Amino acid sequence: MDRAALTRNIVIAMVAGLVIGSIIHALELNPEGWFLAGVINGFFDSVGQIFIRSLKLLVVPLVFFSLACGASNLSDGGSMGRIGLKTMGLYMLTTAVAISLALLVAIAVDPGRGIDMAAPSDFTARQSPGLKEVFVNIFPTNPIAAMAEGNMLQVIVFAILIGVAINKVGEAGVRVRQSLLDWNEVVMSLILMLMMIAPFGVFALMITLFSKMGFSTILDLAKYFFTVVAVLLLHFTGTFSVLMKFVARLSPLTFYRKMAPVMAYAFSTSSSNATMPVTLETVRKRIGVKNEVASFTVPLGATINMDGTAIMQGVATVFIAGAFNIEIGVVGYLTVIATATLASIGTAGVPGVGLITLALVLEQVGLPVEGIALIIGVDRLLDMMRTAVNVTGDATVSAIVGRSENAFDDAVFEER
Ligand code: ASP
Repeated sequence: MDRAALTRNIVIAMVAGLVIGSIIHALELNPEGWFLAGVINGFFDSVGQIFIRSLKLLVVPLVFFSLACGASNLSDGGSMGRIGLKTMGLYMLTTAVAISLALLVAIAVDPGRGIDMAAPSDFTARQSPGLKEVFVNIFPTNPIAAMAEGNMLQVIVFAILIGVAINKVGEAGVRVRQSLLDWNEVVMSLILMLMMIAPFGVFALMITLFSKMGFSTILDLAKYFFTVVAVLLLHFTGTFSVLMKFVARLSPLTFYRKMAPVMAYAFSTSSSNATMPVTLETVRKRIGVKNEVASFTVPLGATINMDGTAIMQGVATVFIAGAFNIEIGVVGYLTVIATATLASIGTAGVPGVGLITLALVLEQVGLPVEGIALIIGVDRLLDMMRTAVNVTGDATVSAIVGRSENAFDDAVFEER
């Protein structure tokens, strides 16, 4: 199957799963009945879970092999440092822009006004890690443990160290690099195999999710929900297009077209981490960023760059402040920008993690963490949308860094 057909099929599968799932939900079938219990929760749920597990399976080997190869291809430690700084800087900058947009729009809309706070809340926040802990934890003590736990930042650090060391050992390094390159090809071919069956996986995930998802909570929280969606769209079509057009100097439309299947994966898995193999494949083979840059920027982005999540957090903060009638003032908002930008570092891109870091943001500005109970009802759907924005941000920054490092293949980008 060619790429265009595959893209089309993935998007069709996503929409079909969403529509059929929603119809099933609207029919209010008996949850114990054979259809919901057997077909949806039994069959489709299993297919969906196996699909996500297979994607996750590829994450660690892919990051290790591609990044060790990538780092070993860079002529000196200086270029690695430069790429690292640029990437980190751009990730922080785009996240700060995202959350500032969210705050501006949310303050104008004031979605929390008139909320009846007598509503009982039974939410207890999970503890989010402190910043010092996050920083120290980037450095692995045991590479196998890091891989076994799927600790992406630690795997990234280990792979870079191996790559840099390969460069320093002459003949032996050449041999090791060759075998890593071969392994990299093998893992990439596994990703292609998985992409071939992706329409089934995506359909299964969507039909299972939407047959359970009630939309009535959206109506109760319409103002909050649609404010988040509006800012997500604004950042997606505004910030990313401006960056693509004026900084990367590439056509935003071509970029979005090529990113469509990646967004469908992100939407249906709600996980930047699980989507990472597909993001990396697309950024390399369809957008044209060379491996030495993409193998670093994409896994790092899947872990630390969450523009969509920051947008939800910005709107949620204003919403909760409004609902509890608490003024947090300009300093409070600046604190929100700083905390939300930093909080995304060190929290993996997995479903629902944004709500956990939101607790940290709320605490920083003295808002009641129980406020999260107010928005939890619509978070699942927002999680899907913001994850699509998160992965598009990773690809945007990868393209900019790739172009600025002369690690970009224009011919690949121009291909249909
Ligand atoms: N699910 C998001 C991601 O993986 C994180 C979040 O916002 O909860 O990127």
